[in-house]
Amino acid sequence: MADLTPTPDRPGLHVTKPDPTTPATATAVCHCGATATATGDNQVRALVEGYTANHGPAHSKGAK
Ligand SMILES: [Zn+2]
Repeated sequence: MADLTPTPDRPGLHVTKPDPTTPATATAVCHCGATATATGDNQVRALVEGYTANHGPAHSKGAK
C-alpha cells in the first residue's frame, strides 16, 4: 500500500474512510504551507470544503 498522506513535498488532500462505521479522517497539506487534519465525517467534510475553496486548486484561480 502506498502512503498517500500529503506532505509539504507532495501537497494534497487525503481522506480515509475505511468502512461505514469508522469516522472519516482527513489530512490536507497545501503548497502555500497550510496544513490541516480532521476526524469525523462532519469535520472532514468541512475541511474538504474549506481546502477546496481556499487552498489547493483555488490558489490558481485569480491571482491574489
Ligand atoms: Zn493554500
